[in-house]
Amino acid sequence: MRNFIIAGNWKLNKNNSEAKQLANQIKIRTTDIKNTEILVCPPFTALSVVNDIVSGSRVSLGAQNVFWEGQGAFTAEISADMIKSTGASFVIIGHSERRLYFGESDETVNKRLMAALQAGLKPIICVGETLEQREAGQAFDVIATQISGAFKNLSVVDMQDVIVAYEPVWAIGTGKTATPQQAEDIHTFIRGKIAEQFGADVAKALRIQYGGSVKEQNAKELLSQPDIDGALVGGACLKAETFVPIIQIAESLFQTH
Ligand code: PEP
Repeated sequence: MRNFIIAGNWKLNKNNSEAKQLANQIKIRTTDIKNTEILVCPPFTALSVVNDIVSGSRVSLGAQNVFWEGQGAFTAEISADMIKSTGASFVIIGHSERRLYFGESDETVNKRLMAALQAGLKPIICVGETLEQREAGQAFDVIATQISGAFKNLSVVDMQDVIVAYEPVWAIGTGKTATPQQAEDIHTFIRGKIAEQFGADVAKALRIQYGGSVKEQNAKELLSQPDIDGALVGGACLKAETFVPIIQIAESLFQTH
């Protein structure tokens, strides 16, 4: 059985005092959540202060990116070990905004992924097609390329801690959501690709989140799909009032997932 994981990607939002306040509100409002994994991913600058708040609670901590080198002359980069030392246990890799604005490629995703695993961080690997690619009928090919590129040279054991997030680029921050069926079709496809590369057991255990304008109003329909194992939430994660209801919906669906 795959338990849901609901993650909030805070992106470039929240200074340290705002971050502490949000983390505290999420922690206080989720004390009755027993079966759903909760994750917050603040900016690097707030990792330590948020860790002080969520440490020992049901809320886990993640970073939004990681560099593949461990140390050296790489101004402004952050290593996996540095992230671990803040108390974080997850890291988002290959978000479409990194791919779009910062030159992230499948090759660099793979390098970051290796570094994360070596440090014992659990990676969330983001994949997703643009609107242009979807309209040209290329969505499945794009996802297949991103998946094989990201997971090149990984072993079955490496895959144990990996999470995939399917985030259609056209649905991120746009208010447009993939229909539950559109999302489910891609999730099933991803699971199939993972089965081809790593075998049926790895594919069955892999958690695949959906991301793209997830909110309280559409969470139930999306999370009710058999291959959707959680959500990566952007806009709606910036307030406890809009993030916690998504966690509660996942919790209510636990028995039937
Ligand atoms: C995201 O950036 O990962 C995301 C899904 O954002 P939003 O929920 O705002 O679409």
